[in-house]
Amino acid sequence: MTADLLPQKKSMTNIKDLETRDKPNWCPGCGDHGILMAVKQAIAASGIEPHNIAISTGIGCGSKLNQWVNTYGNQGLHGRGLPVAMGMKLANPEITVLSVGGDGDGYGIGMGHFINNMRRNIDITYIVQDNQTYGLTLGQTSPTSDKGATGPSTPFGVIEEPVNPIRLALSSDCTFVARGFAGDIPHLADLILQGMQHKGFALIDVLQPCATFNKVNTYKYFRERVKKLENHDVTDLNAAFAKADGLDIGVFYKVSKPTYEDQEPGLRGGHGDVNEVMASFM
Ligand code: SF4
Repeated sequence: MTADLLPQKKSMTNIKDLETRDKPNWCPGCGDHGILMAVKQAIAASGIEPHNIAISTGIGCGSKLNQWVNTYGNQGLHGRGLPVAMGMKLANPEITVLSVGGDGDGYGIGMGHFINNMRRNIDITYIVQDNQTYGLTLGQTSPTSDKGATGPSTPFGVIEEPVNPIRLALSSDCTFVARGFAGDIPHLADLILQGMQHKGFALIDVLQPCATFNKVNTYKYFRERVKKLENHDVTDLNAAFAKADGLDIGVFYKVSKPTYEDQEPGLRGGHGDVNEVMASFM
């Protein structure tokens, strides 16, 4: 589905409503600007009122995103955007929950939370700003840095293999797996919208430049290599694995499974009676 085909739902929300008093302070040319706009476009197109949306982030340049979207939100600790997002969803399953963070945040210190949220299939949309760099701490290489990439912590080049988020998600029972590009905002907005509409855990890994510290993976680099997935069956797991290694963007895999909330007895049929639970401990 292209941006032109975004559902024309009647929404009370437009992009202007989602702006906050402060403006983003990311570096000029940072891919986070495009991701922020795509998040706003997806929310506006979803028809969901901002007071029914919460955004949980971790620590990193991109984790400041929730400060500049006029919804509920929380910025937590490094790598802990997902557990807080899970708490938000369990406390109020009626709301739409997004979690946003960088590749270092999510695929480094937050890796355990990432895998456990996928196997639980909790209904969260997880957007990872993947710039292959720890930008906030001045450009160290990250879990997705290419082998041989240099930085302040690896002056002679990375000797490890990079994490492939798509392959990892496919092998962790993630029920919605997608990759976007910060330089194609309409396409990315459509992916985020699809993730929000998916009932279950949705990963959207976003290729984005860090204009200040990553001089290799620039907009030009991505524009020359990124292409949209075509003639791809999103229910075919083997086909998704086969395409995971390139720089294709789009939905790789999508399947329907019961969510964690659906199976949690305490949440079935509503929020449960807290007083009854408390009384059982007396
Ligand atoms: Fe963006 Fe990199 Fe600047 Fe951080 S350091 S705001 S990731 S360009």
